[in-house]
Amino acid sequence: VYHVFTLETTMTFEKLAEANRLRLSHFKNRQGLPAHSTPDGSDWTIAEWTNAMAGECGEACNLSKKIRRGDYSAKELQEAINKLMDELADVVIYADHCASQLGRSLGDIIVDKFNSKSEEVGSSVRVGHSA
Ligand SMILES: [Mg+2]
Repeated sequence: VYHVFTLETTMTFEKLAEANRLRLSHFKNRQGLPAHSTPDGSDWTIAEWTNAMAGECGEACNLSKKIRRGDYSAKELQEAINKLMDELADVVIYADHCASQLGRSLGDIIVDKFNSKSEEVGSSVRVGHSA
């Protein structure tokens, strides 16, 4: 049985959180053993979840360093950029795990933080939830 979540315009942070929760028990470590001893990921501390997120951010940083340094030929550049995008996605996916482990919604956190920063910098731009 597959759980398919549409990733186009109907993708929401709530759907990401649900998909993340459902998928977590499917991960295995390099020895082929379950990566988590609890299906909801509560076996990892928040430090472990943020460490995983930082690891993905580091992968993105390393790729952007190599792109900037000129490691890739014109032919290879698009693939390197695609890999960088993959790492950005990994950061957000882990950010969702971090928020979920603390019982929070990543979407709600982003709305609150975006709007408080807008207030701080004197911007009228706000984000919100669709009805
Ligand atoms: Mg990655």
